[in-house]
Amino acid sequence: MSRYIGAICRLCRREREKLFLKGKRCFASNCVMNRNKGKTVPGQHSMFYRNKTSDYARHLREKQKARRIYGITERQFSNYYKKAESQKGATGTNLIKLLEFRLDNIVFHLKFALSKKMARQIVTHGKILVNGNKLNIPSYQVKIGDVITVLNNYKTIALKNTNENLNSKVPSWLNLDQKNLTGRVLSTPLLSELLNNIDSQLIVEYYSK
Ligand code: SF4
Repeated sequence: MSRYIGAICRLCRREREKLFLKGKRCFASNCVMNRNKGKTVPGQHSMFYRNKTSDYARHLREKQKARRIYGITERQFSNYYKKAESQKGATGTNLIKLLEFRLDNIVFHLKFALSKKMARQIVTHGKILVNGNKLNIPSYQVKIGDVITVLNNYKTIALKNTNENLNSKVPSWLNLDQKNLTGRVLSTPLLSELLNNIDSQLIVEYYSK
């Protein structure tokens, strides 16, 4: 499956806002966006980038931003959208909830990894257990009540990661038992607690064309 392997900070520059893709390094003073402040976008012709954008461009950028935050491909994202559309309730909210319930995202929120990229890697390397069963699928949809733990041979690194991440809060819809490195999903994700304010309505409008 194709995945973006270029410079990570370039994605923030392109979206002209912090996407928090590098864990705690994003809170450091030397983050590119602190210096750049969204003034320039990457690329040879960035000086021709227009500040005035069309509605279509705004919808596209919001979709790209969400896709980059969760580190998924175009096709995966459009499949999530189709699934969200077929569910009851507001499509935009359903979409964000589906994305938040990805296993790699939950592992990141529980601080077992320093970034979403690292979370994806430890899941694919089989270091995560869901309800006692080893699961190596980053896109696995976690359910309310699921218990997420780490394999014994990864516990030392996971503990180090949780200690390093103590400054950031675990969302209130998750519970972390740091001593036993066990997390539990308590409820559906609270969108108000998202680090990046994704306007899901703009994404719905993008796909409604
Ligand atoms: Fe890089 Fe993180 Fe800053 Fe984005 S927020 S530019 S990923 S350090």
